[in-house]
Amino acid sequence: MSPEELRDLYQSVILDHSHKPRNHGELPAPCLHAHGDNPSCGDEIDIWVKLDDQNRISDIKFTGQGCAISQASASMMTVKIKGKTTAEAAALREDFRRIVMGDGKPLNEDDLGELTLLEGVQKFPQRVKCAMLGWRALEQAIEGA
Ligand code: ZN
Repeated sequence: MSPEELRDLYQSVILDHSHKPRNHGELPAPCLHAHGDNPSCGDEIDIWVKLDDQNRISDIKFTGQGCAISQASASMMTVKIKGKTTAEAAALREDFRRIVMGDGKPLNEDDLGELTLLEGVQKFPQRVKCAMLGWRALEQAIEGA
């Protein structure tokens, strides 16, 4: 990657999330949990989710290690989906997948907010897995419910 490309990718908001991840830590049981890893980059994410009786994500936390993109993306995700229903979270995940893969327009671009800052990832196919790792773990946790 050239310095310009790196600058594009690691924008300040992304760096801030990777240095000071939001919703970092574990939730006490009972809650949903999933582990995701991305061996090609060495990224790991553990997600803990609590759902209320309306299928709403009432709390979410994560821990992990790996590259700035994987950790920042997970941090930004937790901020964005707390309080959303699992259906809303799934819709957001699909829109996020579209922007990081450059695969069509998101259906609700406004909902993505600062997550759109990660769209630069689409120029770096090996980074798409990093950006999606937290979202994949979230999906696994919810499917396990
Ligand atoms: Zn990575």
